[in-house]
Amino acid sequence: MKVIKFGGSSLADATQIKKVCDIILADSERRIVVVSAPGKRFPDDEKVTDLLIKTAEAAVTGGDVDACVSKIVERYSDIADGLGLDRKIVETVKNDIQKRVSSSKTNRSRFTDLLKAAGEDNTAKVVAEYLKQCGHNAEYINPKAAGMILSDEFGNAQVLPKSYNKLAALARKSSIMIFPGFFGYSETGEVVTFSRGGSDVTGAILAAAVNADIYENFTDVDSVFAANPHVVDHPMPIPMFSYEEMRELSYAGFNVLHEEALAPVYHKGITVNIKNTNNPEAPGTLIVPTNLLTLEHKQFKVVGIAADVGFMTLHVEKYMMNREIGFGRRLLQILEDEGISYEHTPSGIDSISVIIREKYYEEEKFNRIIKSIYQDLAVDNVSTEFNQAIVMVVGNGMTHSIGTLATATKALADAKININMINQGSSEVSIMFGIAAEDAKPSVKALYNAFFSGKN
Ligand code: ASP
Repeated sequence: MKVIKFGGSSLADATQIKKVCDIILADSERRIVVVSAPGKRFPDDEKVTDLLIKTAEAAVTGGDVDACVSKIVERYSDIADGLGLDRKIVETVKNDIQKRVSSSKTNRSRFTDLLKAAGEDNTAKVVAEYLKQCGHNAEYINPKAAGMILSDEFGNAQVLPKSYNKLAALARKSSIMIFPGFFGYSETGEVVTFSRGGSDVTGAILAAAVNADIYENFTDVDSVFAANPHVVDHPMPIPMFSYEEMRELSYAGFNVLHEEALAPVYHKGITVNIKNTNNPEAPGTLIVPTNLLTLEHKQFKVVGIAADVGFMTLHVEKYMMNREIGFGRRLLQILEDEGISYEHTPSGIDSISVIIREKYYEEEKFNRIIKSIYQDLAVDNVSTEFNQAIVMVVGNGMTHSIGTLATATKALADAKININMINQGSSEVSIMFGIAAEDAKPSVKALYNAFFSGKN
């Protein structure tokens, strides 16, 4: 059994949806189909999810809700017409969105999630309807009835372990199941969404629950590249990554797959195949357990370079810090008490830096944090640095090879890029550099040229 997921660009209009259905029907093992909401049809277009977020904002702030709803309904109306569906489905979509809009707005996050989920939910209904109209045994699956139970973290939910047993029952159905991605239900029955791009996560959860042979993730590129094609011209396509490599690259800004999508399949060892809806014959890119990596893949020391901006650093200095038992724990406790998640903690004998996502920065909160660090830890100095980026050089092959760091630092030095921090995890699958945000793109170019030039 295969679980297959289609991203927003694959469902942007009727022509794309027909391609999606051809792909589903080309293989009788493609039985659980996860769909995103319609994405952009052209570069300046708006994603349905973005339109839904605007609708929620308009509803809360007294904006023009009707105009927002009309835009969304128009998208579904065009799709229904293009697929030759009965207009009844357009009414169903309109009523559904209006019902969501008129629900309670007391908890704004809850209300926004309820609206955000409408994109996937209605698309799943439309795709199921189209397949049925073409004479196939397809059905829309309601995530609540199927058991997609998530934590009640609106906009950033996580699957609860008890979902898996319930979702496993889907394997016994004989139909083609069209499952809306991106959302599930909390234990109290509220709609909750994953973070943006979360339909990838839905697909991975379902693949793990039914023990799928493979999780096929259809997007709009023939394969994953060694670097972002918007930064590097014609980067090298990479036919295979290990889970660890892909996780590191997604973390550092590769947006081909949601950062959290590999966790459910990782434990089951289910292969993920990234493929192109517009060219389904292309083999795509496989993401596999390390023991399935081919010899050809292992020859590459480095398989990808990624960079992400939006980081800040908290530098803490104290003479003789290394002699103090529990210093690191107490420092991190101060952050934990303020609900701040940290990313990395590179350190020296008398200093430690904590790298944090800038989205957590709130002036008042950080003033409190800095005050506590001075008071509780009697440090000499605390300072903050904003507009930081991380750039990651990733490859399982680095483990046994000498000189990767030297090649990377030389490339950055030649490009006149200042390195603020170097961090190599104990798994040695990546080397991370902390740099200024403005150096993010030049550093990817420089590192790509150092590791890949001439290999294309
Ligand atoms: N439609 C949602 C988003 O735009 C989820 C997804 O596409 O995976 O974030």
